[in-house]
Amino acid sequence: MTSPPGAGRFAPSPSADLHIGNLRTAVLAWLFARSTGRRFLMRVEDLDDRTHPEVAERQLADLAALGLTWDGPATRQSDHPQRYDDVVDALADRGLLYECFCTRRDIAQAPRAPHAPEGAYPGTCRNLTDAQRAQRRDETGRPPALRLRTDTAQFTVHDLLHGDYTGVVDDFVVRRGDGVPAYNLAVVVDDAASGVDQVVRGDDLLSSSPRQSYLAHLLGHRQPVYAHVPLVLNADGARLAKRDGAVTLAEIGVPEALGRIAGSLGYRAHTVAGMLAEFDPARLPRTPWVYLPE
Ligand code: GLU
Repeated sequence: MTSPPGAGRFAPSPSADLHIGNLRTAVLAWLFARSTGRRFLMRVEDLDDRTHPEVAERQLADLAALGLTWDGPATRQSDHPQRYDDVVDALADRGLLYECFCTRRDIAQAPRAPHAPEGAYPGTCRNLTDAQRAQRRDETGRPPALRLRTDTAQFTVHDLLHGDYTGVVDDFVVRRGDGVPAYNLAVVVDDAASGVDQVVRGDDLLSSSPRQSYLAHLLGHRQPVYAHVPLVLNADGARLAKRDGAVTLAEIGVPEALGRIAGSLGYRAHTVAGMLAEFDPARLPRTPWVYLPE
């Protein structure tokens, strides 16, 4: 018996309309998946932002308008909250979680070891006694976040564009104080639940991948192969944003958007099917694309 083909995916957060940089990343995710015979899945990451279902609908309509196709209906994280709670419970049963009462400010102001990596949780709540925990709970008066008790400071992932990438793994949050599953947990749980073995996304998330890959390893999941693609920048060299104007599909129009995306990738074809025929991951641009509206 042959194993079922793996899957790639695109996982937009429905906070705003997709801009041309997001659309280009989606096209690349589709090209990577389809060129390797994988299924392509669409997942709306709405745990954080359930209030704008119409934004998600527009995002999906825009992706379809570019000619992207996905297997099965788009899924929404908010449709299955139990999935995340079950994994949090399983990690807790293994003694791998602890309560954290720190605010962002506490973390920023905490003393840290001389060589502690930038942005890593300093471990303030890791070894509290039961009495200290009860005291912190009374003092803060709000429910704690849950952090993963990690046993490493770094982890290595394989990225098709960045090679072997080693990055920080700290005791990251898996469930926020407000009860919402943290992004780093949800992404790993969803990818594994849907058979995703190829993760293509913007390279702003490269530094999150060691944490996610470490968690996948703890949960006994197969490591996905990653491709973190360069971001799109505006004329000032800053990350493209909706406020730059003339960046959404509604503003640019489908033919122009496809033409600009294809041009930025060095393709002659102006359809996604044509780009698929020309796709060669080894020839992808490794530097950000600067998008200037016409
Ligand atoms: N939802 C995330 C975003 O829109 C992407 C997460 C991922 O691809 O892992 O930035």
